[in-house]
Amino acid sequence: MTHDEDRLLRRAIELAATARTRGEAPFGSLLAGPEGEVLAESWNTVLGDDDITAHPELKLARWAARELDSGTAARTTLFTSCQPCGMCTGALARSGVGRVVFALSSEQLDGLRSSGTGFADVPQHGPALYAEARVPVEGYY
Ligand SMILES: [Zn+2]
Repeated sequence: MTHDEDRLLRRAIELAATARTRGEAPFGSLLAGPEGEVLAESWNTVLGDDDITAHPELKLARWAARELDSGTAARTTLFTSCQPCGMCTGALARSGVGRVVFALSSEQLDGLRSSGTGFADVPQHGPALYAEARVPVEGYY
């Protein structure tokens, strides 16, 4: 990583510390433009917002999709204190953000937890009712 990327990643870690001092889970992120300029910052607000989706990565993915054109979004980098979870990874893919740089890996995070290692997958059953379910979809894309 470059010196500038180190600086931006350290800022994401500072945002994680801010989240913790405010009683939230310790995760922070920022979105940087191609010249390393900070476009937006966020931290985890799951408790304060009473919203299980209020991860900083997801909030910044939504911000990028809403506020940036696709060409600009593609040149941004999300710097985040921890590797994005599955929910945020999906949102980032849809957002058009160009790249992610993270500090802690998911495995490293699990090693720092004293209880549990995240969430169990919800069982999914399907496919089913193809002939009916395809009707509203056909021709849309
Ligand atoms: Zn997440």
